[in-house]
Amino acid sequence: MSIKSIQLSELVVPLRTPFKTSLRTVDSVHDILVEITTEDGLVGYGEAPPTAVITGETRASITGAIEELIAPKLIGKSVLSMEENQSLLHGALLGNTSAKAAVDMALYDLWSQKLGLPLYKALGGHRKTIETDLTISVNPIEEMVKDSLEAVDRGFKVLKVKLGLDHKLDIQRVIEIRKAVGKEIKIRLDANQGWTPKEALAIIASLEKHDLDIELIEQPVHYSDLQGMIQVTTQSSIPIMADESVFNARNAMEVIEAGAADILNIKLMKTGGIHEALKLISIAEVYDVPCMIGCMLESKISVSAAAHLAAAKDIIQYVDLDGPGLCKLDPAEGGPDFNEALITMNETPGLGFTKILAKKEK
Ligand SMILES: [Mg+2]
Repeated sequence: MSIKSIQLSELVVPLRTPFKTSLRTVDSVHDILVEITTEDGLVGYGEAPPTAVITGETRASITGAIEELIAPKLIGKSVLSMEENQSLLHGALLGNTSAKAAVDMALYDLWSQKLGLPLYKALGGHRKTIETDLTISVNPIEEMVKDSLEAVDRGFKVLKVKLGLDHKLDIQRVIEIRKAVGKEIKIRLDANQGWTPKEALAIIASLEKHDLDIELIEQPVHYSDLQGMIQVTTQSSIPIMADESVFNARNAMEVIEAGAADILNIKLMKTGGIHEALKLISIAEVYDVPCMIGCMLESKISVSAAAHLAAAKDIIQYVDLDGPGLCKLDPAEGGPDFNEALITMNETPGLGFTKILAKKEK
C-alpha cells in the first residue's frame, strides 16, 4: 500500500458557454491531473486548476511544486499514514494551495479505497445526495435572463448570479432575472470583491427595496478589507458570505471572531485540500457558522472530492459545485453521479473513478 509513483498530465474539457466573472473570462477547463499509484496497483486521482487571480498558481507552478518538492517526499509512504503524509505535503512548501489540494484529494481517494469505503462515508457520511446551484456569468441583461431560464429548465432550483463589473447595472440584472424565474427559485449573488463597502450597502438597500428575496451575497468587498466586510455584514439584512477572505482555518477563525461574515465558502483549492478543510469545518461547527462548499473552474475529478466532503458534513449547508454542470463533456468514468442539480455519491470505495477520458499527456 505504499506510494509508487505520482504522475502528472493535463486535463482539457471545453465549457458549454464562456465563464465570466468580474475578474476573468475562460472557455475551457485546462487543469493539471494528478494520479498517485501504489505498489499494489491502486490509483488515486486529483485535479488542480490554475486560478492565478485567486491562488497565484499557473499550470507550470502547480507542476513544478508537485514534481520538485511534493512527490519526492511522498514516494514510498503508506497511504494509511494520513497524518504523516499531510505533514509532508503541507510542509513541502508555502502556499501553492491548488497543487497541494490535488495531491491531498488523491491521498484521501487512496486512503478511503484502502478502508473499502466511499470517501463521504469515511469522512462522516451525513448524506448521499447533495443539490448544487448553477452559476450565471456576468453578461448583458438579456443573456443573463436567457441563461437563468435555461438553468431552471435543466432543473436547477438555486442560481448563483455573478455581479460586479458595473454596479449600476447589477440591480437591474437581478430585477430582470427575478422577474423571469419567479419566486420559487433561490437567488444568491456573488460580487467577487467588486464593490466598495459603501456601494455594497447601497446595492443591498436597493435589493431590499425591490423585494428581490436574495438568499445571500458572496464577498461584496476586497478580500483584504476586513473592516469593510465587518461594516457590510453588520449593516446588511441579507446574509454575507466570505469567499476570497477565507483561505484556511486560521482566516475562518479571524473572520468569525471579527463578525466579518455570516457564512463561509470553503474551497479545496484555497485550503490546500480536505485535511485543512476539515480543520476549517471544525471551527465553523464550534461557532455554529454555516458553510458553503464551492469550487473554482474545475471538472468532475476535483469537484467530486469537494462533493464527498459536502456529503459527509452537516455544517456544509450550501453547495456551489457546478463545475461539471458547466462542462460540455464528462472527463471521467465512475465517481459521483452529476445529474444537473443533483449530485449522488458513489458507493464504490474512494472517489470511485475507473477511467479518465479527457487526459492529455504532457
Ligand atoms: Mg465566490
